[in-house]
Amino acid sequence: MRLILLGPPGAGKGTQATFITQEFGIPQISTGDMLRAAVKAQTPLGLEAKKIMDAGGLVSDDIIIGLVKDRLQEDDCRNGYLFDGFPRTIPQADALKEANISLDFVVEMVVPEENIIERMSGRRVHPASGRSYHVKFNPPKTPDTDDVTGEPLVQRDDDKEETVRHRLAVYQEQTRPLVDYYSGWAQSNDAAAPRFHQIQGVGSVEEIRNRIFAILK
Ligand code: ADP
Ligand code: ADP
Ligand code: ADP
Repeated sequence: MRLILLGPPGAGKGTQATFITQEFGIPQISTGDMLRAAVKAQTPLGLEAKKIMDAGGLVSDDIIIGLVKDRLQEDDCRNGYLFDGFPRTIPQADALKEANISLDFVVEMVVPEENIIERMSGRRVHPASGRSYHVKFNPPKTPDTDDVTGEPLVQRDDDKEETVRHRLAVYQEQTRPLVDYYSGWAQSNDAAAPRFHQIQGVGSVEEIRNRIFAILK
């Protein structure tokens, strides 16, 4: 299974990625998680990326494409992969195509902006795994504690309302064109085109999961 989860920040991509990667035994390739790990390790890339991420902008295509290509060389990608938060621009999508990195599905999660603001303000994450929770909609078993490791949850620096609004604008401008890109490609006669599906991302975590699985099965 090789797929992209497409959708705005806060659409629930990371939450649903957990279910899909478990079901199909594939890795989750989250460029956001990879960048946050680099920030934490204070690598040169991390130091460079931190400013951009805190401002809600996008890290350069060349850097992201390099990261993803390296990641795909790892053994665990042989049975497939799930891209979460990548590609985010047309050049990133073109890079996948040019490298003949094949895809079975592109699933767009559609969530209105007002829901997103509410989701982001209550989001809490476990940095080491990327697991995310919501204080109201998807609470951990113990407040502020990761269910699996018992480690503390944190609020992301870029989940402040002002930064979220900027990220949503960046999504509309730079990432949303990928919806036409992939739906157009799916409608062409190209046998290599991934199937494109849109699902409504509002509802319980379980409902959304069922919608996605109905497509992938
Ligand atoms: P969210 O899960 O809220 O959509 P991500 O964790 O995917 O956010 O991304 C956090 C930040 O990391 C982005 O705002 C951006 O600065 C950077 N980033 C992540 N993935 C990419 C990418 N594919 N291209 C450029 N920047 C990226
Ligand atoms: P993304 O990876 O697309 O940025 P996340 O999976 O991190 O999104 O989800 C964003 C926030 O919304 C998190 O706090 C998460 O717990 C919460 N969330 C995820 N799915 C739902 C849902 N179906 N309904 C309400 N809140 C949700
Ligand atoms: P047709 O419907 O006649 O195939 P298109 O212009 O949709 O015409 O596609 C022509 C070719 O261009 C496709 O066979 C495919 O290889 C490529 N192509 C089209 N759209 C995309 C896209 N969004 N991304 C990558 N390749 C594409």
